[in-house]
Amino acid sequence: KTVIKTTDIAKAYQMGSETIRALKSVSIEIKQGEYVSFMGPSGSGKSTLMNMIGCLDTPSGGQYILNGNDVSDMTENELAEVRNKEIGFVFQTFNLLPRASSLENVALPLIYAGYSKAEREEKALAALAGVGLAERCHHKPNELSGGQRQRVAIARALVNDPSIILADEPTGNLDTKTSYDIMDLFAQLHDKGNTIIMVTHEDDIAEYSHRIVRLRDGLIEKDVVNENPTRIN
Ligand code: ADP
Ligand code: ADP
Repeated sequence: KTVIKTTDIAKAYQMGSETIRALKSVSIEIKQGEYVSFMGPSGSGKSTLMNMIGCLDTPSGGQYILNGNDVSDMTENELAEVRNKEIGFVFQTFNLLPRASSLENVALPLIYAGYSKAEREEKALAALAGVGLAERCHHKPNELSGGQRQRVAIARALVNDPSIILADEPTGNLDTKTSYDIMDLFAQLHDKGNTIIMVTHEDDIAEYSHRIVRLRDGLIEKDVVNENPTRIN
């Protein structure tokens, strides 16, 4: 089943009199259960493409079909709804609320989905247990290590059972050992059937994924299957 299909999507930014073509023409199809890395030099369009795929922004040209729905021309409100339902975001800087406990951070996306407080806590606790952090549910971000913070963020991304997990440099703020631990967790999530798309500029991190897409100057330069993904050690 195809989850993501972009056809010739383009994105231009106007900077004063200058037009920056961040994406020129990108066509990509991603199926349910795939684990894909986007790589490429700084400025090649990785963040822009992730913003399109994550429904944070719409393309200035071309078509984007997400789970059979054309999201290319949606309004802000429609995009926000699709985003809450379909996408789990993981960021380089974790983006947790500093004053909220792990449980509260993970439960946050469920508020928009309309669950009761008891249901939210139950689901958030289950998500935290899934990343091995149930016993840290009442800790705040500053009482957790970097790796633990990223686990909380991953639990938050998963709590709504999204169609895709989008991770932008998920190991960018973590030391090597912790980075590999997080990649082990991603490998487990992939084994359970999750669709994962991540941006990374580190080869050894990309090697965990099953498909590596390289961008350059707003175009796909290379799109290859990784025959030997790094396995959990
Ligand atoms: P990457 O993530 O690969 O570093 P980006 O998608 O962030 O690349 O950027 C691609 C190009 O688009 C760069 O030239 C960048 O400066 C430009 N760009 C990205 N976002 C914006 C924006 N909001 N406004 C203007 N230019 C942007
Ligand atoms: P990353 O570290 O993930 O590559 P960037 O530093 O490229 O992120 O961009 C961070 C954010 O700033 C993105 O949302 C991107 O769209 C925006 N951005 C990037 N370049 C520019 C720019 N030249 N002008 C305005 N916004 C930009």
